[in-house]
Amino acid sequence: LSVTDLVEASIGRIGEVDSKVKAFLTLDEEGARAAALIMDKQLANGGERGLLFGLPAGVKDNISTEGLRTTCGSQFLKNFTPVYDATVVNKLRSAQSVTMGKLNMDEFAMGGSNENSSFFPTHNPWNLDYVPGGSSGGSAAAVAAGEVYFSLGSDTGGSIRQPAAYCGVVGLKPTYGLVSRFGLVAFASSLDQIGPITKNVEDSAYVLQSIAGYDPMDSTSANVEIPDYLSALTGDVKGLKIGVPKEYLGQGIDPKVKESVLSALKVLESLGAVWEEVSLPHTEYAVAAYYLLASSEASSNLARFDGVRYGERATDAGNLLELYHKSRSQGFGSEVKRRIMLGTYALSSGYYDAYYLKAQKVRTLIKQDFDEVFAKYDVIIGPTSPTAAFKLGEQVDDPLTMYLNDIVTIPVSLAGVPAVSVPCGFADGLPLGLQIIGKAFDESTVLRVAHAFE
Ligand code: GLN
Repeated sequence: LSVTDLVEASIGRIGEVDSKVKAFLTLDEEGARAAALIMDKQLANGGERGLLFGLPAGVKDNISTEGLRTTCGSQFLKNFTPVYDATVVNKLRSAQSVTMGKLNMDEFAMGGSNENSSFFPTHNPWNLDYVPGGSSGGSAAAVAAGEVYFSLGSDTGGSIRQPAAYCGVVGLKPTYGLVSRFGLVAFASSLDQIGPITKNVEDSAYVLQSIAGYDPMDSTSANVEIPDYLSALTGDVKGLKIGVPKEYLGQGIDPKVKESVLSALKVLESLGAVWEEVSLPHTEYAVAAYYLLASSEASSNLARFDGVRYGERATDAGNLLELYHKSRSQGFGSEVKRRIMLGTYALSSGYYDAYYLKAQKVRTLIKQDFDEVFAKYDVIIGPTSPTAAFKLGEQVDDPLTMYLNDIVTIPVSLAGVPAVSVPCGFADGLPLGLQIIGKAFDESTVLRVAHAFE
């Protein structure tokens, strides 16, 4: 099989299903074919193969690609073409995967269903009437539908793990700082992480191996040694200590989801692991703290979209202030505006202590909850989402219900620790995800447990 064969197979599959799934915002057939040709020639001339040699990949559309439109799912950037590649895109190129194009997402990664994309929603490949999850819904659906071999997503409060769960694929959010954010359009900089979405855990280890590592271009990049993630996949979980937070199986969790987690724990038990109920007592405050902190950071990060520097510009403005107002009013969708208003309010001088500062303190308490459990346990396990995927349109007018879908992914993001979602069964024909959470920079254990379970 040549790389050209793989790329043609991907193009063929995209042609077959993407008019229904709608995972792609931009397809780069020409670029992919050209890259494949170069790789085939290199191989014929005895060149070395990279870790991801020849694999067709998709990239979430908030990750900067030189010369290839990068919209963030927003009308503001509908014609924006970056002049540089994100570090992860460079790393994919070094590992020799082939970027097929850019994948749909909720506008600026704000959302959990892909319905906030300002272009069109992506559909869940398992049932086209259902959402694929979000915000990396295009990334999860493209892998689930077999359009690409793997994809990259971004996770600020669950956006890799939740869509992976809804689409029955593997989604890994690395430790904050493990993967460079350089070239990722910022939503909430203290939470944003890029990670792989794949069909299985082994592929996840391969992609993580290729994209992890220190980057001087990202001031929050961690200068840590990168272990060999593949050699961690031993299948051995004997003696592993698992904490299962009672808050993750309590109120608001669908009984079928709870059942799937309990039977997953039985599987791990049969492999020699032990589990006990633990408590992460501040879980109930996580969603409120997250929506204050993430919106505050977003209000600051999105100030750069002013109609002057990037993307669209209002044509009917009489002066500079009007140019800002009109460009932003026309360019942003309603969820993005809601977050900017919430964040601006929380940061305003009279309210800073009551909201932003308070939320930061809650974030610290949540992190301490995790520290305490990890002092005694190797991993924490629970569901990825309280329910399976819901119907398109079902929650679109109810942002609060939508926000509560993140109840078990958000605490992990606030604590900055790694977590993977692996498929663990079905409810009414729709996939469910098991969330395996690890200590900071202990992706090896997270992947080992996921691999043994899978
Ligand atoms: N659903 C969450 C939100 O809307 C998470 C988004 C994300 O992780 N990018 O903010």
